[in-house]
Order: sequence, then C-alpha cells, then structure tokens
Amino acid sequence: MPYPEKRSFMFHSVCQVPTAKVCGDGKPSRRGRSFIYRLKDEDQVPQQVCKMFFLSTLGYHPTNDSLVLGYRRYLPSDISMKLIYADSIEKDNKCSYESYRQAVKSLNISFTKLGEEQCESCLLQEQHVKADHQGEAAVNCPQCEKWQIHKDSATGSRLHYQSDAEQDWPEDTSTRSVDLQKVIMLPRMPGVKSAVFTRRIVAYHETFASVGKKTNKKNTISVVWHEGIAGRSAAEITSAYAAALEKERDIKHIVYWVDNCSSQN
Ligand SMILES: [Zn+2]
Ligand SMILES: [Zn+2]
Repeated sequence: MPYPEKRSFMFHSVCQVPTAKVCGDGKPSRRGRSFIYRLKDEDQVPQQVCKMFFLSTLGYHPTNDSLVLGYRRYLPSDISMKLIYADSIEKDNKCSYESYRQAVKSLNISFTKLGEEQCESCLLQEQHVKADHQGEAAVNCPQCEKWQIHKDSATGSRLHYQSDAEQDWPEDTSTRSVDLQKVIMLPRMPGVKSAVFTRRIVAYHETFASVGKKTNKKNTISVVWHEGIAGRSAAEITSAYAAALEKERDIKHIVYWVDNCSSQN
C-alpha cells in the first residue's frame, strides 16, 4: 500500500479524543489527547483494540506509531533538551525552558535512544500481563502460553549458544555472534559542541564476533555502512550478512548466533 493510502487508512481507523483521565492531583492528564484504535472483525464490524494490537496486526513494531502520529524524528543520545535549550539561549532565544520543551515535543522530536530495542514478543506480553492479569502471567491464557514458548525457546537457544562459546572450534569452522550495534551519528566527538550542532549522518554497524575458546578465535568482522548507502530494513541487513560471508568464503562451516529476544541479555 502506498504511503498516502496508509495515512488515509490510519485517518479512518484511529480517532483522537481529548484525554478524559485526570491525574491523582486533580490536574488534567499531561497527555492532551488520546487515540482510539479500531479494526474490523470478520463481520466487518469495527472493534476497539489497543494500540499495540492495532500496530502489530498491521505488521508494524508495537511501539512504531509513526504512521499514526506522523514522522517522528530522533536526536542522537549525546544531545539533551538542556543542551539544545542552552544553545538557543546563546542564539538570543527568550522563551522559558518549559515552552521550549513543549515546542520541541510538538514537532514530534524525541530523544529516545535508537538501537536499544526491546524484544517485540516480550514487550507485547508485558503490556498484556499489566492490562489483563494484574502483572502476573496466567496459566490457562493462550497469549501467555504463546509467550512462555517464546521465552523457553530463547532460554534454550541461549544455553546452546553458551555451550558453543565454550567449545574449541577447528580451523575450518567459524562460529560467530551477530549483533546490530546502537545507531551512531557521525561526527561524534563527546564534549565538542560544534560537532553536536551540525548536520550529521546516521551510521550502522553489524558485528560478527568470533566465539569459542581462545586458540582458534578469529578476527571480528564488522560491517559498517551509513544512511546514504542503506537503512536497516531486513533486506539491507541481509546485505551485511552477505558481506560478512564473503569475507570467509573459504571457511567450510559457518555458524551464526543471532539473538532476537534482547531482554534475555
Ligand atoms: Zn494472558
Ligand atoms: Zn522476547
């Protein structure tokens, strides 16, 4: 579906209402608006669903609400609200910190650290347990059972990985643990302000670290690219694998360990 159609689908499925909730101290909730999400059931009757269910049913990451809220932009982790406010004061800005903060927020700019993503299944489960079971996973619930299988399999793979990490691998076998590192914005020079307030480029780094006992450990392979070359969609990440495999084309056996449940670490 092209982007304009997606937006129009969102427009008809999501409606915005003023927040009804009032916080404990009697003041209205800080969130000025709430969203109601609807999906049609088998009989084409719209049903209200939660945001996470809505987004994941449509195939998005449960925290990726950019299609609902519009494009969200991120600032790198070495920039803080205080830092950019101080910079604006130097440039003759007269508004208060609070109004400045509100303005940044209304532009959909966020300070969330990219790359530190949670496991999707575990995130959904966390919300589900909070909403439906007062914080404890239940026994006879299909969703909880599904997550338990996910967790057991993640624990199982971790055990296998650990035993691989303790093995002595022969010369013709390359066993590696693969991980996408936190997104870096270049140039990155901690403490140097002119390097912060400049146009920066997003860089990605996929590491293929050799695992196993010291004797036959191989060099780490790092595949590095920037946003001008590719992003980090599945297809683009696959190219990083291809590049890494190319480096070891003469190795007979290659084992890659890829962790998709990051909450296990
Ligand atoms: Zn449950
Ligand atoms: Zn998980």
